[in-house]
Amino acid sequence: MLKPLLLEEEKVFKDPVHRYVHVRDQYIWDLINSAEFQRLRRIKQLGTSFFTFHGGEHSRFNHSLGVYELMRRILDTFEGRIHLTYEEKLLCLCAALLHDVGHGPFSHSFEKVFRYHHEDWTRAILLGDTQINRILRRIDEDFPKKLAEVIAKTYDNKLIVSLISSQLDADRMDYLLRDAYYTGVNYGNFEIERILRVMRPQEDGIVFKFSGMHAVEDYIMSRYQMYWQVYFHPVTRSGEVVLRKIFQRAKVLFEQGYAFHQEPLMLLPFLQDKVELADYLALDESVILFYMQMWRKEKDPILKDLCARFLDRNLYKYVEFNSRDFHLLPELKELFEKAGIDPAYYLEVDTTSDLPYDFYRAGDEEERIPIMLQMPSGDLVELSTKSEIVQAISGKRRFDYKLYFPMDKVMALPGDLSQKIRERLGVMENVGASRQDYSPD
Ligand code: ZN
Repeated sequence: MLKPLLLEEEKVFKDPVHRYVHVRDQYIWDLINSAEFQRLRRIKQLGTSFFTFHGGEHSRFNHSLGVYELMRRILDTFEGRIHLTYEEKLLCLCAALLHDVGHGPFSHSFEKVFRYHHEDWTRAILLGDTQINRILRRIDEDFPKKLAEVIAKTYDNKLIVSLISSQLDADRMDYLLRDAYYTGVNYGNFEIERILRVMRPQEDGIVFKFSGMHAVEDYIMSRYQMYWQVYFHPVTRSGEVVLRKIFQRAKVLFEQGYAFHQEPLMLLPFLQDKVELADYLALDESVILFYMQMWRKEKDPILKDLCARFLDRNLYKYVEFNSRDFHLLPELKELFEKAGIDPAYYLEVDTTSDLPYDFYRAGDEEERIPIMLQMPSGDLVELSTKSEIVQAISGKRRFDYKLYFPMDKVMALPGDLSQKIRERLGVMENVGASRQDYSPD
């Protein structure tokens, strides 16, 4: 039987979203102080969103502490309602704290180009030769493995899994509130205190008291709003497109044996596709930004241009695209080639989609777990059968296509060609992401 190992005195972190983050366990305190966890300070939670919302520069460290704190409060509300052992509680807290530990710099763009998944790195960090692994093994030799299963959603205690990954879990609740706070938008807010008060643990997951339905509705709507107003913002996506193109170009140059003026030593393992855990852990956003600074002085005109665009926020503009418009691409590519603007780097369709709430049809496993309401009679009913608001947005996946390109390059072309490309792009007066347009609207 595992005995609690408590700190002599509780430690607190000041947090703008939850006011305070309370740490009582020695293990949690040690995990926070590990090198792998401290690395999260150098990785932004929202990637390129700061181009649109300049306040959105908070780190994954910041979010991870927040998820831990929410989990701690959820476990407090479960006291007297369900019995969890100290080890089970510690599993919940560690999963909350470490669920994002495998994220790398600018995850979305980097992962796409170098084809890896942060989930695999999370597992490698928990189970590999790391400070985190040594701390977790002090709890129990099997603890790292159990924790990796909780985070991978394969652990057999479904209640524990659902607290960290479900439609309404500690992770999502924290990032919605936190991202809304730091970006300064109003629509991400919902009443967290109320949700915590109406949460009820069951053997295989959590349910919500019917009296709290409006707070849950509010959460679903704020999620919907945050996705479309913040996470999928077209300017943020433009930043991601440019970033992907930088990695793509560096990779192509490397494969062609290009002699970099500044050899990208810390990126070599990624370019060679031979990445060890230590290489991965050494990478953070300061490293990526350093190479961008160096590469803007490279001889290669494309790499140099792309890095300058990212650093100076001279992003691509976009036009609305449609799933029916894809047949237009070959001709556009040809025109770009003719104009000497390489379409592999300067013309990109970006697609995004979200399912605000669905209880039976979605792709992700966690999306399939419905949110259940507990009626005064004790019966359980699925949320959208009671809530008209949720029903209205249930099961409706919304797709959004945008075509990105550097307007300045198109404008600098000789009259005829420029005119022709603009016509094909359907470019009107109002093209998005103009340099003066810092407004998120
Ligand atoms: Zn997270």
